[in-house]
Amino acid sequence: LEDLVVRPAHVFREKQGIEVRLGHTAQKIDRQARTILGRTSAGDGFQESYDKLLIATGARPRIPDIPGNDLPGLKALKGLEDGRRIKDYIFSKQVREVLIVGTGYIGLEMAETFHSLGIQVHMTEMMPGLLPWLPDQMAEVVRKELDDKGVGVRFSNGIRAVEQRNGKLMAICDSNEYLVDMVLIAAGVVPNSEIAADAGLELGPANAIAVDRFLRTSDADIFSAGDCADAFHVVTGRKVWIPLALRANRSGWAVGDNVTGGNVELPGIVGSAVFKVLDLEVARTGLSLEEARMAGFDPVQNLIQSRSRAHAHPGNTTIHVNLVADAPTGRLLGGAMVGKEGCAHRINALAVGLHAGMTVAEFFQCDLAYAPPFSPVWDPLLTAANQLLRKVR
Ligand SMILES: Cc1cc2nc3c(=O)[nH]c(=O)nc-3n(C[C@H](O)[C@H](O)[C@H](O)COP(=O)(O)OP(=O)(O)OC[C@H]3O[C@@H](n4cnc5c(N)ncnc54)[C@H](O)[C@@H]3O)c2cc1C
Repeated sequence: LEDLVVRPAHVFREKQGIEVRLGHTAQKIDRQARTILGRTSAGDGFQESYDKLLIATGARPRIPDIPGNDLPGLKALKGLEDGRRIKDYIFSKQVREVLIVGTGYIGLEMAETFHSLGIQVHMTEMMPGLLPWLPDQMAEVVRKELDDKGVGVRFSNGIRAVEQRNGKLMAICDSNEYLVDMVLIAAGVVPNSEIAADAGLELGPANAIAVDRFLRTSDADIFSAGDCADAFHVVTGRKVWIPLALRANRSGWAVGDNVTGGNVELPGIVGSAVFKVLDLEVARTGLSLEEARMAGFDPVQNLIQSRSRAHAHPGNTTIHVNLVADAPTGRLLGGAMVGKEGCAHRINALAVGLHAGMTVAEFFQCDLAYAPPFSPVWDPLLTAANQLLRKVR
C-alpha cells in the first residue's frame, strides 16, 4: 500500500517547504475573520488565518441509510486506510463470499479484485441495468463478461438492511437475500462540501462547491478544486459534477497558479473515463444519447463492431464503438467503447475531438495511425464516424 503514495507528507515539508498538518480536520470557515477553525485527532482545537483559501476536501462514499450499515463486515473503499482495512478483513476472516452493492466503476473494479483472490462475488444494483450511459448491447457485453467469470448481478434490487447471522452477514435486498462474509458498498460518492455550504458559499450540481473557470467560489478569496467542486462541461457549456483524478489534479495546479499571481482559466471537462473489468476495457467520453437529449440536443447514435488489430493479425478482438452526434449540426457529442483491448487509449482521440468542437465529418478526416498490431487500416473510431455520418444532416 505504501507504494501507492505518490508523495508522502514529509517530502512536502523537506523539499517544498510546505507545512502539511496531518490529523487536522477543518470544521468551520469564518469568512469575516478569514479564519479556519478545526480540531486535531488528539482532540485539541486549532485556528488558522488565511489570505486566500483552497477547499480541496474531496468526496466520500455514499453509504445507504439502512439498518446494519455500521456492522464491521460492511465496508466502503475510498482511501488507502479503507484498502488496508478491507485487506485485513479478507485475510483475517478468510472471506470467501462478498456482496458488492453498486455497479459503478469502483464496484466493477473490486469485483475483478475479489474474483482474482478466488472470492465468490455477487453484485446488486438498484438501477434496472448496467452502466446506463452505454447502449444496451454494449452494457450486455459487460454483463456477459461478469456472468462468464461467475459474477452474478441483480438489477432493480436495492439493499434494505444488513444483519449479523452466525458470523456471517445477511444482506436483505428488494428481491432476494445474500448470506455473505463481507458487504462492499460501492454506491457512488458525495462531495465533502458541507464546510463550504455552512460558510454560505454557493453549491452546484450534486451539492458540489460551485466554482468559475478560475476555480473561484462565490467568495473571490476562496477557491475550490478536485472532487468537492463542480466544473464546466465542454460539450454542453453547463455545470457538471464528475469526480475524477485528472480534473482534480489539473484544478489543484490551476489554483496553485492563481493564488500566486497567475491567471489560469480552465475550459472544462468532457467526462472522459476508463476502467477495466475482468478481461474488458470500458471507456467513455462526452455525452451518451440520453444525456445529449437532456442537454437539449437532437442526438443520434450509431453502434458498430470493429477489430482491435488488422483482421489477419493474431490476437485481434472485437471492439464495440458507439458514437453520438447532434443530427441538425453534425457536431460530435460523445462516444463509448468496450472491448478486450484498444479502448482505453483510443477514447482519447475522441476526447480531443470533443474539446475541439469537431463535427463527425471533421473527425472522420483525422489522420489516425495504422499498423497491423494496433488497428485495422480504418481505425474503429473512423469506421464509427463514417457510419454515423449517414444519420446526421
Ligand atoms: C477506489 C478508487 C479508484 C479510483 N480510480 C480512479 C481512476 O482510475 N481514474 C480516475 O480518474 N479517478 C479515480 N478515482 C477518483 C480519484 O481518486 C479522485 O477523483 C481524486 O482522488 C480526487 O482528488 P481530491 O484531492 O479532490 O480528493 P481526495 O483524494 O479525496 O482528497 C481529499 C482529502 O481531503 C481530506 N479532507 C476532507 N475533509 C477535510 C476536512 N474537513 N479537513 C481536512 N481535511 C479534509 C480527506 O481526508 C482527503 O485526504 C478513484 C477513486 C477511488 C476511491
